[in-house]
Amino acid sequence: MRQENLFTETQKQFKEIADILNLEPEIIRQLEEPQRLIKFQIPVKMDNGKIKIFYGFRAQHNNVLGPYKGGIRFHPKVSEDEVKALSIMMTWKCALVNLPFGGGKGGVIVEPKELSEKELERISRGYVRGVFPWIGPEVDIPAPDINTNPKIMAWMVDEYSKLKGEDSPAAFTGKPLEVWGLEGREEATGYGGAVILEKLKEKFNLNPKETTLAIQGFGNVGSNFARFAFQKGFKIIALSEDVGGIYAEAGLNPEKVLECREEKGEIAGCYCVGSVCDTNFGKQISNEQLLEMDVDILVPAAVENVITEENAPKIRAKYIIEMANGPITAGAEKILEKRGILSVPDILANAGGVAASYFEWLQSKQKEKWQKERTLNELSEILGKAFDEVWELSQKEEIKFKQAAYLSAIGRVVKAMKD
Ligand code: GLU
Repeated sequence: MRQENLFTETQKQFKEIADILNLEPEIIRQLEEPQRLIKFQIPVKMDNGKIKIFYGFRAQHNNVLGPYKGGIRFHPKVSEDEVKALSIMMTWKCALVNLPFGGGKGGVIVEPKELSEKELERISRGYVRGVFPWIGPEVDIPAPDINTNPKIMAWMVDEYSKLKGEDSPAAFTGKPLEVWGLEGREEATGYGGAVILEKLKEKFNLNPKETTLAIQGFGNVGSNFARFAFQKGFKIIALSEDVGGIYAEAGLNPEKVLECREEKGEIAGCYCVGSVCDTNFGKQISNEQLLEMDVDILVPAAVENVITEENAPKIRAKYIIEMANGPITAGAEKILEKRGILSVPDILANAGGVAASYFEWLQSKQKEKWQKERTLNELSEILGKAFDEVWELSQKEEIKFKQAAYLSAIGRVVKAMKD
């Protein structure tokens, strides 16, 4: 159950920083909500021949630093408020890691698991027809988000190019490799999170073998993060997806869990399978239990508002890496801070995805192929540098790490507006 409204939460977070920066009311007015919201119907002919109307959104928050940029999610819980909030977060995220982009976000209210492939394609193409006048390589560049993937981006860019009357690969990112997709884009968000993990290790002298992790969410972001964390030698003791998860004190190998999920259909069914986990200790857990586990690092990598004022007092991790967008409510963050728990905010921790999108956008425009190694090196560089900047600011100003990240990001956007 999501009780908090993500939009109000995001506004609260912004206003706190606006107060510190002593922002003028006109600037606050401009930044507290998106510059534009596009809301439209998507009529789709279903396989049974009937027309069904879906609802699509695109929120364009701010473009002072460059074209709007952000994903499109397909989810039954998508709402106007959700995309508005997520578009605001994208502005801060792009600013924090110094990308020449503003913030946007889109979504369709739909449960994609209930659709056939053809229906999914029709919705994807219908989405593009609905937003066509307001997007483009120099205007607003969508990408994948929850439940959207390279295949969907391929349909979308194809529809866009048809409407435009010219091949426009730079209009979308997160595309398949054959249509100017970027090698490494799919794992980029998870990889970026692992760069942050490495930074925490450095700053706090963590020994990976003895550092335990619980990861909530096993989609693109959670599973790739888990793979990289495992490769770095960290001990993952719990993993979950929307229907539940597993816990194994001896540690889990995410590759094996992935294999097992393919076979069983659910992570929760994997707790006693061969070498996936230590059968003596492995057991099923719920998502709520995962969040409250006694681990060193907690990684919410699923959806927003999972750490609330209700469960924040029960969180036992020392560090939280926000791989999902907005997993901690503003009230919960206050509690965590008082308890000395450090959270690395989403706008830094999951910025690897949009940073890789930037490289993809460049290569799509310049028709130049990037090697995966180059992408991963650049990602390490960008995220590592952003982490260090935030760290220094938090030390200098004697403020919390998360607050320093928002101060830096919002400060940059405001400076550009004033300039
Ligand atoms: N959906 C991702 C995010 O929330 C990526 C956005 C993009 O690549 O534009 O950051």
